[in-house]
Amino acid sequence: MAVVSYKCPNCDGPLVFRPEKNNFHCDFCGSDFFRQEAEDANKNAKDAEKTEHVEVFSDVVESEFKDISHDEAEDEQFEKEAATYSCPSCGAEIITAESTAATTCYYCHNPVILSGKLSREFRPDRLIPFTFPKEEAERRFREFCGKKKFLPKEFLAPGTFSEITGVYYPYFIVDAKVNGSASGKSKSVRTWVSGKYQYTETTVYQHDRSGFLDIDGIAVSAYKDGDRNLLKYVCPFDESQSVDFSMAYLSGFQAEKRQFKKDELKNDIMNQVRNISEAEFRSTMAGHGSISSMDLTINEYKDQWEYFLFPLWVLTCKYKGKLYRYALNGQTGKVYGELPIHVPKLLLTTFGMAAATFIVLFIMGGFLI
Ligand SMILES: [Zn+2]
Ligand SMILES: [Zn+2]
Repeated sequence: MAVVSYKCPNCDGPLVFRPEKNNFHCDFCGSDFFRQEAEDANKNAKDAEKTEHVEVFSDVVESEFKDISHDEAEDEQFEKEAATYSCPSCGAEIITAESTAATTCYYCHNPVILSGKLSREFRPDRLIPFTFPKEEAERRFREFCGKKKFLPKEFLAPGTFSEITGVYYPYFIVDAKVNGSASGKSKSVRTWVSGKYQYTETTVYQHDRSGFLDIDGIAVSAYKDGDRNLLKYVCPFDESQSVDFSMAYLSGFQAEKRQFKKDELKNDIMNQVRNISEAEFRSTMAGHGSISSMDLTINEYKDQWEYFLFPLWVLTCKYKGKLYRYALNGQTGKVYGELPIHVPKLLLTTFGMAAATFIVLFIMGGFLI
């Protein structure tokens, strides 16, 4: 399996994608390159060397494992979960999770792309590049924490947080065409008094609708191992800003390949389609009270799937034995994640409010007497 590292054509230093400038930068000599130049440089280097394509060391791994007589199931598990590659810059072994497609060499800190993991059916159709750099991600996260009133002070102390990492996560984006019909009931109630009788009139309305719906851009995470809520609620992304997939964008970031097949996510998408369709039909049934129950039938359905990589800044924090995970949308800056609450502070305020209410009541009571 191929290992790619984008190198500076001037000095051979590592090239890293810079979101804020939308170009590729070499920290060694300070040169900047456009995407095409970075890709060309990588292609030329490959042509010149021909040999730097490193094969997975599966044979080596196997024999080594036999030597130290590991349990066979354990071997299989290891091969499934970790693949061994060598870094094109320093030759050190790079061990990653099975799904990781781009990472940084632990020894020389050069960006490394395990391009074979994103080939054939795992090659994404499109990608949304990061739009702001790491420093901006850190600033936005601090701002997010700063807005929370009951956040414990120690939570923001140095060392509580992991380093913030830019990761491209796999998603499917689905455009659906729906031909459906819906029927719902609502009622309005009128009461009046005439003489010694009270009258109640209940009118039941039947609403029938049918029509075509075009639903674009339904997103579903195609990554199994992560926190699915985090990957869901950090959406939406604006796909109109996406570009055709190019390996070069991954340089300097981490990337994960998809772990789900389309079929495994069909139900998830169908539920979203039903919810959106129901809300659309419901919005046309206004007037005559609210709709109590609704039947939705989907008569015809077509969909189109595209495989995307979306940019997320992620970080974790261990606080009082609990692990907190956060994600920032690398395109819009939206932050998602649960923050710990400082309980004594919150109780004090609640108590303060109760006391204030009591005093007001007491004064009012005083007036009434
Ligand atoms: Zn350079
Ligand atoms: Zn290295």
